[in-house]
Amino acid sequence: MEQFLTDMHTHSKYSHDGQAELSKMLETAHGKGFAFYGVSEHFDYDYDRLQMTESERAELTNVDPEVYFHGARHLQEDYEGCMNVLIGAEFGFSRKQEVANKYLSTFEKYRPDFIINSVHGGEGRDFCRYTFTEDKGTVYRMYLQLIRDSLDAPYPYDIVGHIGYIARYVPYADNRLSLEEFGAEIDDILKTIIQKDKILEVNSSNKHLANRTLPSAEILRRYFELGGRKISYGSDAHGPDRIGDKREEVVALLKEIGFEYLTVPCRGEHIKVKI
Ligand SMILES: [Zn+2]
Ligand SMILES: [Zn+2]
Repeated sequence: MEQFLTDMHTHSKYSHDGQAELSKMLETAHGKGFAFYGVSEHFDYDYDRLQMTESERAELTNVDPEVYFHGARHLQEDYEGCMNVLIGAEFGFSRKQEVANKYLSTFEKYRPDFIINSVHGGEGRDFCRYTFTEDKGTVYRMYLQLIRDSLDAPYPYDIVGHIGYIARYVPYADNRLSLEEFGAEIDDILKTIIQKDKILEVNSSNKHLANRTLPSAEILRRYFELGGRKISYGSDAHGPDRIGDKREEVVALLKEIGFEYLTVPCRGEHIKVKI
């Protein structure tokens, strides 16, 4: 097992909120010495476009899979032999069967190198566009149930994305997703990830969350305690400046907990990378 730099959660201009061309992202990652660089553009089939305002619809355009996979595969070839570029996708989970079917057919048609399965909202809207009127317990239990359901998604995802994402947008003074309050629900999720042999992501993008990873150190520790060893690091960079952001801090935390390696998914295989 060798030590390499990895970042398995990044976006480029193929996503509606990406800030730089993929070529620029790759050039930067290569310059920083990354050995494994995962591109995970947003596939937001979970968004209910009928519910959106006209300006939201114009802003939240979906990635064009034909254009993305074609362009990205060319760039992947360009880097062959100097950086492992993995062309993946971030699927926004929805309970709706027709959404799951759409993801399944995207998978079958384009065969992404890896898939991150992420819960960004419910009812077809991202949590960043929600007005939360209920109490924390009700909202967080609803969120945790969505994550639990996402683990049973019928498409072959590899990584469970940014658990705790909702905390960025809720109005509660204490927005922590703690084991003390939600231990049973969190344990069920972590045990299911282990049992299904999926990879838990540590996402270092913590806007609005004072120096916290997603999920928190407490949840990562619990995952390790329960026997979970498959962990992925992702910066969730939307521009070149954030590629590999806080990677060292994340790795230090993981080592302190007891983790010895990261797991990089590639076309169904799990590659161990020493930390
Ligand atoms: Zn996401
Ligand atoms: Zn993302």
